[in-house]
Amino acid sequence: MSRDGTVSSLHSAIVDGDITAAEVCETYLDRIGSVDVHLNAFTVVLHDLARAQAEEVDRMRDAWRERALLGIPITIKDVICTRDSPTTAASRILAGFHSPYDATVVKRLRSAGAVVVGKTNCDEFAMGSSTEHSAYGPTYNPWSVDRIPGGSSGGAAAAVAARLAPVSIASDTGGSIRQPAGFCGVVGLKPTYGRVSRYGLLAFASSLDQIGPMTLTVADAARVFCVIAGRDPLDATTASQPAPDLSRTLPGDATGVTIGVPYSVMEGVNQEVRSAFDTALEVLTQRGARMVDINLPHMAYAIPVYYLVAPAEASSNLARYDGVRYGFRARSDGAREDLERMYNRTRDEGFGTEVKRRIMLGTYALSAGYYDEYYVKAQRVRSLIIEDYDRAFETVDVIAMPTTPTPAFHLREHVDNPLAMYLGDIFTVSANLTGLPAISVPAGFTADKLPVGLQFLGRAFDEASLFRVGDAYEQDAPWWRTEPALAV
Ligand code: GLN
Repeated sequence: MSRDGTVSSLHSAIVDGDITAAEVCETYLDRIGSVDVHLNAFTVVLHDLARAQAEEVDRMRDAWRERALLGIPITIKDVICTRDSPTTAASRILAGFHSPYDATVVKRLRSAGAVVVGKTNCDEFAMGSSTEHSAYGPTYNPWSVDRIPGGSSGGAAAAVAARLAPVSIASDTGGSIRQPAGFCGVVGLKPTYGRVSRYGLLAFASSLDQIGPMTLTVADAARVFCVIAGRDPLDATTASQPAPDLSRTLPGDATGVTIGVPYSVMEGVNQEVRSAFDTALEVLTQRGARMVDINLPHMAYAIPVYYLVAPAEASSNLARYDGVRYGFRARSDGAREDLERMYNRTRDEGFGTEVKRRIMLGTYALSAGYYDEYYVKAQRVRSLIIEDYDRAFETVDVIAMPTTPTPAFHLREHVDNPLAMYLGDIFTVSANLTGLPAISVPAGFTADKLPVGLQFLGRAFDEASLFRVGDAYEQDAPWWRTEPALAV
C-alpha cells in the first residue's frame, strides 16, 4: 500500500475511491497472515467477518462518507466483548465463551465504519506488564522478538507497531495501553475516567479501568477517541462532557503551554530513557513550551497503593467466574462432586498464576482483620496522590514524564519476580489512581533500537491538551515513520 499506514491517509483514500475497503482489508489480512506467526499478537483473526464488513462499507460508501473510520481495520483486545467471535481475556476460564452482545465501544467503532480484523493477545484478565501471562503464550516485541511487547495490551501494541492494523482498542487499568505503546513505539491514550463506556469490558478494577486507542500518530488517536468517547446509558460511570472539537485542537501547538516535570521522581530511570526524555523536552521548549519543576510528594506510594486497590477490586470482580455462568468448567475427576468442589476445581484449573496471586492479595487486603490496615489506608493515600496532582495542575497545563523507567525487557526477565514486574509501572499507575487522562507518544530509540515512550498527563476531561502538545512534539519528532525491520 502506497499510504503511510495512518488512519487519516487510509480514510481519505477510501473516501476518495482510490482504494476499496475490501482491498485495504485484504492487504492487512495478508500481512497478519505472514507476520503474526512471529509475533503472536492475535488470539483470533476474523477473516470472514472482516471481509463482510469491508464489503458492506464499499456498498455503502457514498452514504457513509462522513463516517470517521470508514473502512479502517481495527483490532480489539480480548477483554472486550464482541458478539460474533470469542472473548477469552486470554484465560482458560473463558474457553468457549461467546458474549451475547458487542461492547459499546465496538458498536460505536462499527457504526463509524471500522472493520474489526481480530482480537488481540494480552495478559490474562489484563493483569500483567509483559503479555507473558496469557493462555495463548506470549506476544513478542516487533522491534526485538526476544523481548516482551509490554502489557497487558501487548498484542494490541505489537499489531499497530508491525502495521498489522492502523488502530488497536485496548484497556488501561494501571498502564496497559501506555506501557506497551511505549515499548512498541506507538501512541497510546488512556482517556479520563468516565470518558469512554466500559459496557462490555470484562472488569478488572472498576475504579481504575478505562478503554482507549493505540495508533501510529496522535491525530489518529484523537480521531478514534472522538468516536468512542461520550455518555452511554449502559454504563452509569460515563460522563456527558462533549468530546473536544479537533479542528480547534489539531494541528498541535506548544506555544505558551506550561509543562510540569516531576524531576524528583526520576531517579533510577534508565540512562537512555532519561536522555530521550530530556531531548523531547528540548524539542517542546524550542516550540515555545515552558518547563516547570513540580513536586508530587506521594508518588512514591503509587505502586503499593495501586497493588492493593487493583487486586482488591479484582478479587471481587473475578468472583463471577465459577464454572456455572461463563466458559470453562473443570471435568469431573470421578470423586464425589459437590458445588463448592466444582467451583474450586474450576477456578484452580481455569485461572493462571498471576490472576490467582491477585485474587489472594485482594481477598487478604479486604478481609475483616486487615481491611482498615490495607484497603482503607491505600484509599487514603490515593486521596493524597489525587491532591498532589490537583495542586500541580493549578500552575501547569500538562505534566510530562517517561512512560516507563526502562525500555522493553527480555522475555522471562521478570516473570518469576512479580515485585520487579510491578515496580516498572511507577509512571503509569497515577493516571488511573487519579482518573486523569494520559497519553504515551514515541520519543525515539535506545542504541539497541528499542522504542522509548514519552508520557503526558492532563487535567480531567482535557484530552485536548494532550493531543495539542503530543501532536506539536510529533511534528518535529515523527518517530512513528520508522518501522520495525520485521514488518518491512
Ligand atoms: N501492569 C499493571 C498490572 O499488572 C496494569 C495492568 C493494566 O493496566 N491492565 O496490573
